[in-house]
Amino acid sequence: STMREAGTKRTKTVCTFCGVGCSFEVWTRDRHILKIEPTHGPANGISTCVKGKFGYEYTNSKARLHTPLIRVNDGQHSTYREASWEEALTLIASRFTEIKQAHGPDALAFIASSKCTNEESYLMQKLARAVVGTNNVDNCSRYCQTPATMGLSRTVKTGGDSGSIADIEKAGLVLIVGSNTSESHPVLATRVKRSHKLRGQRLIVSDIRKHEMAERADLFIRPTPGTDLVWVSAVTKYIIDQGWHAKDFIEQRVNHFDEYYKSLESFTLEYAEKITSISVETLKQVAEEVVKADGVCILWAMGVTQHCGGSDTSTSLANLLLATGNFGRPGAGAYPLRGHNNVQGASDFGSLPNFYPGYQGTGDAEVRAKFEAAWGVTLPVTKGKDNHEMIDAIMAGELHSLYIKGEDTITSDSNANFVEQALSKIPFLVVQDIFFSETARYADVVLPASPSLEKDGTFTSTERRIQRLYKALDPLGDSKPDWEIIQLIANRLGGDWKYNHPGDIMDEVASLTPIFAGVTYERLEGFKSLQWPVAEDGTDSPVLFLKEFPFPDGKAKFFPLEWIEPSEEAGVEFDLHLNNGRVLEHFEQGAMTSKVDGINRMTPLNWVEVSPELAAARGMESGTKVEVESRWGMIRARVLVTDRVQGNELYMPMNSVKDPVNRLTGAHVDRATHTPAYKETAVRLRVLEAK
Ligand code: SF4
Repeated sequence: STMREAGTKRTKTVCTFCGVGCSFEVWTRDRHILKIEPTHGPANGISTCVKGKFGYEYTNSKARLHTPLIRVNDGQHSTYREASWEEALTLIASRFTEIKQAHGPDALAFIASSKCTNEESYLMQKLARAVVGTNNVDNCSRYCQTPATMGLSRTVKTGGDSGSIADIEKAGLVLIVGSNTSESHPVLATRVKRSHKLRGQRLIVSDIRKHEMAERADLFIRPTPGTDLVWVSAVTKYIIDQGWHAKDFIEQRVNHFDEYYKSLESFTLEYAEKITSISVETLKQVAEEVVKADGVCILWAMGVTQHCGGSDTSTSLANLLLATGNFGRPGAGAYPLRGHNNVQGASDFGSLPNFYPGYQGTGDAEVRAKFEAAWGVTLPVTKGKDNHEMIDAIMAGELHSLYIKGEDTITSDSNANFVEQALSKIPFLVVQDIFFSETARYADVVLPASPSLEKDGTFTSTERRIQRLYKALDPLGDSKPDWEIIQLIANRLGGDWKYNHPGDIMDEVASLTPIFAGVTYERLEGFKSLQWPVAEDGTDSPVLFLKEFPFPDGKAKFFPLEWIEPSEEAGVEFDLHLNNGRVLEHFEQGAMTSKVDGINRMTPLNWVEVSPELAAARGMESGTKVEVESRWGMIRARVLVTDRVQGNELYMPMNSVKDPVNRLTGAHVDRATHTPAYKETAVRLRVLEAK
């Protein structure tokens, strides 16, 4: 993987900026990152996007943390002093132990990172469960894709993309729901654009915002916010009523059809038109397109999941695919597009409050006995708290310590003002990161970690593809790879762990986890990769459900649903609806506000997209400074007038650290998973000064 040419080193790595999983060689000389060269990545071939190609400068940023920091209080002010690892680890171990003795293991909680490696996710949950003795461990998929996983586990069991990214090209129709694919998953979007343009693949987009994929679509539908479940269910009912459903497929491979069909009774096209504002004619057209197509892939993301009904809408999409026989072959199936580079893997490797690695339930006595035997401990039985419950538990005085790794909870969780209040209250907070984040401002101890270019390990991309990354640079200063830090903490607490390399960790995972049975570092050497489940002989699974669904009887399940209105709709007091999402160029720089040395970097104000109609009605133009207020908070921003949004819809990018949109998003969560309903926020807007 590593070659030296005249002082230049080329190292294989995997992109850290999104779930597509592009891999490439990074050229370095000493600490200089010379270039990123895509050569033969299994997901990307010779492509990258702007983030993958140019986004690595943060590795050498002056704002990197290079030594542990400990909070010191002089009565009035609290500041940080640099500390040795010895001091920092001693403090952490003694506080963890004290808190555990005084309040029990469930008074401590752990948040893993979807940016870190699989091996690091595994160690984080092992630290929580085996060393501290609590199931209080989660990762930031709770903020994005857990509802998609829930929707799939209800219907087809496996919560990952049904096929490979390359297989999407084989579909007759690609249906994109609530995903700004060209900005959030650029290289994947390029493939869709290509097969749409060159191969006549049909493209339907459902979104409230007219982004690039919407502009390209053969059919663009714009439902009332929060109503996707209604049109999806109505289209499915119409297909069945016409007798167009996949009768043989359902007969042989799916349970609960009758019960499901009955549950669709109220979802007539007329009802759907009333709720979603999509016309009956258009809904019929969508149904015809779905039925006519030779293979349908549905791609979805945060526009679906970040609602109170996020799990239900995800489930409705799976129901539609089941009704039309669109599982179990290439060019068909469900593609919940994972956001972070390792959102898939962080959950797969067990940083979840109710699952050991490989989605083995913590409530399953047999599974628990297996892990107890392997780890030589008695494991906790109580279900753990998810991220959302952890914040509430702090406010309730039940949680006394939180260890957050690679996650800026204040800017990424919803209802930021509330989260900030909670973190300022918690008795002991450890933050492990590469930068001094907003969340670090509340930490008692800050630990300096190493980013991807400074460590070995594996990531799992959206298509369940496990890929190795190799260390290209030594850790900066005193920083360490996250897996080493977790091991140091575990051993201070009596863990006796002896991992010399992430490969040792993977061997342990494989021995305990059926879906990773055949995963070895050897089989992942260089650009080789494996898509889970991986059988013991190393056979992997580019396409899922070819013969059966992984339920005991091998059959999938239809899952009846009802539609519940969104939690916050634009009304009298808060008359506008606020949506939010990614922008193409965003990368980690958001975290470098240089608070440590007091340098006040110039950060441009966040912006808010306003429709031409609304701008005209309120006397705004691009550049106008406004105040946006919700029930939960207030921020200032500049207006950008664009027809990407319509009527009373506003849109803000989610990447601003200075005025994060999450000061506006609220406390509502998905009913099944507690994922915040980021996309259900009602606001009002006040013009501060014209441009
Ligand atoms: Fe990285 Fe995603 Fe861009 Fe690929 S598409 S280079 S994984 S950010």
